[in-house]
Amino acid sequence: MIQKKICMLGAFAVGKTSLVARYVHGIFSEKYQTTVGVKIDKKVVTVGHQEVSLVLWDLYGEDQFQRVQPFYLRGSSGYLLVADGTRSETLEVAQSIQQRAQEVLGPVPFILMLNKRDLPWAVSEAQLNDLRASGWDIRYTSAKTGEGVEESFESLAKRMLEQS
Ligand code: GDP
Repeated sequence: MIQKKICMLGAFAVGKTSLVARYVHGIFSEKYQTTVGVKIDKKVVTVGHQEVSLVLWDLYGEDQFQRVQPFYLRGSSGYLLVADGTRSETLEVAQSIQQRAQEVLGPVPFILMLNKRDLPWAVSEAQLNDLRASGWDIRYTSAKTGEGVEESFESLAKRMLEQS
């Protein structure tokens, strides 16, 4: 079976670990994970008629700059950028991380997950329209309710397979 590596990228506490836990294990916890390390989860999905094993890399308990080290990114067929819709500064962090990821990986597919959709929102549509205009695929997600989570991972998987 083919395997595809996906990195989770984004600022501190935006919900990267929670989105993987929701997608792979169907669970959510309010508890914040403070351990440091790389966690690798796998999920097999069917895209079209093809089975693909998604290998999800999540570096937790580190600051955002650790997440864009070449050793972490290397071999990724795509990445999920995560920002927290309740903290608009995390969108700016996502933009700088995206530039860095593109320098290392080239133009591989990515999706921006604007997470915590279940909470009061702080990101304006105007901020997003510029990004959309430059071709960004932006999804609203909640690791808590599950909104948009599966769709985001699977859209990325589809685009990665189209590119390979
Ligand atoms: P990471 O540092 O980006 O991996 O962030 P975590 O996944 O550890 O999440 C940080 C905190 O935000 C934790 O307390 C989570 O329970 C919480 N959280 C993550 N996603 C959501 C969400 O969609 N909704 C709500 N209400 N809380 C969330």
